[in-house]
Amino acid sequence: MVFAAAAALVLFHTSDAQAFRHTMTCNLEGSEHRCAEDQTPKPLRWSARCVLYHINEDALESVAGGSNDEAALAEVRRAVALSFQAWTDVECSDMTLVDGGLTTQKDSTFRAGDSRNTNLVMWRDKDWDELATAKAFALTSVTYNPRNGIIADADIQVNTELYNYSAGNIPRANHVDLRNTLTHEVGHFIGLDHSDLRNATMYSTAPVGETSKRALHPDDINGLCATYPLRAEEPPQCLRASEFPSEADLGLRRSGCNTGAGEQEPPTGAILIVLGLILLVMRNGRQVLGAAP
Ligand SMILES: [Zn+2]
Repeated sequence: MVFAAAAALVLFHTSDAQAFRHTMTCNLEGSEHRCAEDQTPKPLRWSARCVLYHINEDALESVAGGSNDEAALAEVRRAVALSFQAWTDVECSDMTLVDGGLTTQKDSTFRAGDSRNTNLVMWRDKDWDELATAKAFALTSVTYNPRNGIIADADIQVNTELYNYSAGNIPRANHVDLRNTLTHEVGHFIGLDHSDLRNATMYSTAPVGETSKRALHPDDINGLCATYPLRAEEPPQCLRASEFPSEADLGLRRSGCNTGAGEQEPPTGAILIVLGLILLVMRNGRQVLGAAP
């Protein structure tokens, strides 16, 4: 009986584990990111188990309720740190995401071999429509080697132009909870795509004011640990900019999560969808940008 119960639990667990999805180098099906004839889709992942991120200090006040008050800014930094930490504090994985501090750098364009490349969290308080056509909460751009799926750079941009964010532990009414948004985006940052499970952090919909995505669902943890299982390496070696590939052809995928269509403010239960993907191919030092529909 004990054995049967255990088996049933395992089956249930296995069923759940199939819900998470990796972002793939290309998809066998799907219009804008279809695999070429000789391409095999591979999951995106960092090669290192320790990845630095930096917080752009420009417009930091725009996510702190317009305040330059030190306490308000510290609250934002803490919310960012907790969002990354949610993916670090998992026993079955040794992936570590480390706060590299504030930076003035805000160029999210990855350039192969450029030591200034930094994984950024940025606040975009104007010209969001140049970045995304939909009313996205945030957009995560991941640059990777399409041959093996190894991630070279990832940047998160938060739409502070159209939304008011709340960084505190208790979100303010009619504000988007920063941790709820960022914890989801960090999942894209490490190579995960959207999950089918409604309660998962990587589920593609969220109402304004939701906080449940701050904490990982077992499905999210399964995705993390399938990608970055515990290894013997101790302590994890942090990836430095100089180790980024310099010669590879690189691809870029962008995942944005936005509210429902239309011009109206989102009602409770607003729908988030994935924005179109944009493919960036760098060959011979030139960038060829092909925008998805
Ligand atoms: Zn998303």
